[in-house]
Amino acid sequence: MIVAPKVAAFMPPRRILMGPGPSDIYPQVLAAQSRPTVGHLDPLFVGMMDELKSLIQYAFQTRNEMTVAISAPGSAGMEACFVNLVERGDKVIVCRNGVFGDRMRQNVERIGGQVILVDNTWGEPVNVDDVAAALKAHPDAKFVAFVHAETSTGALSDAKALCALAKSHGCLTIVDAVTSLGGSELLVDEWGIDAIYSGSQKCLSCVPGLSPVSFSVAAVAKLTSRQTPVQSWFLDQSLVMGYWSGEGKRSYHHTAPVNALYALHESLRLLADAGLEQAWQRHIVMHQQLKVGLQQLGLSFVVAENCRLPQLNTVYIPDGVNDAQVRKVLLERYNLEIGAGLGELAGKAWRIGLMGYGARAENVALCLKALEDVLNEQRN
Ligand code: PLP
Repeated sequence: MIVAPKVAAFMPPRRILMGPGPSDIYPQVLAAQSRPTVGHLDPLFVGMMDELKSLIQYAFQTRNEMTVAISAPGSAGMEACFVNLVERGDKVIVCRNGVFGDRMRQNVERIGGQVILVDNTWGEPVNVDDVAAALKAHPDAKFVAFVHAETSTGALSDAKALCALAKSHGCLTIVDAVTSLGGSELLVDEWGIDAIYSGSQKCLSCVPGLSPVSFSVAAVAKLTSRQTPVQSWFLDQSLVMGYWSGEGKRSYHHTAPVNALYALHESLRLLADAGLEQAWQRHIVMHQQLKVGLQQLGLSFVVAENCRLPQLNTVYIPDGVNDAQVRKVLLERYNLEIGAGLGELAGKAWRIGLMGYGARAENVALCLKALEDVLNEQRN
């Protein structure tokens, strides 16, 4: 027999999460998650799932019928979009301007799709002209895939223009909105996005581990006319929809993360109460406050102002400053988490998140004061 380990209950401290996610969770959301668990086919739970679907549709601004929360994090939402739509041999224009664009490439390659890579400098948005050139050079391309809000750099791409361009070439679009949903303007139907995925743990300020997704009528047509079954049983949306779709049709697919879905319901309810446009605006206002303070500290932004994400502020680490030491002191002394640089920006930049519930004036003030103190100590 393996001896039972003696461990105490895990009692995490209350951190202030100002990194690239997870973000601080609304107290109401944490409370919602601890409500009594009901069966996942309980009629009351089924009713809650119907409400949840309409809340996700609101957040995405879509009437797409195939709109659900995948019972897994944003990476599963990404994978769900690619495995359901892309088939072996399909040509996909993948825009890569950071870490997550590269993960799109990996998804397409694993499926056996043909990747046409449009590479952009890190910190810049996807270049629409480069995508236009790729579409011209590859008239047989079936998809354009891009990240709306690249969390590894803090750059916002012009999803509206990219979708219009893709559409004019008869391509479907696959869009990563993990960091943009609830934080930046996002209009799925109006912009003509065909497949989109997000995450619960960024601007929705919900518990991590869920991925809202939505598929347009055209995307569903591609899914239902596949030559081969979706290679992932769990992520096959034609099966998942049997679980989420209305009256009397509810059939067991997997056991939903019941309490996590309560949390998502509550966070989206809070978003709907506040209003989407107000939420986008709040992120901009908080970003402006943070920006002024960071610049006073002598920190400069990686991303140009016109395409900068308000919810993810990437600033260069000043010369001579010890990256790891600064983040360690912030965490240990101020209970404040900011993000390290990722990929090409590892060791060169910090990523300061202002996401959802975390986008508050008191957090901005704390972060600026803490950074000022720590940077002064390092510089002396
Ligand atoms: N896409 C983007 C743009 C992200 O920022 C992230 C996570 O940070 C993901 C995808 C993956 O999401 P998750 O970590 O929830 O799997």
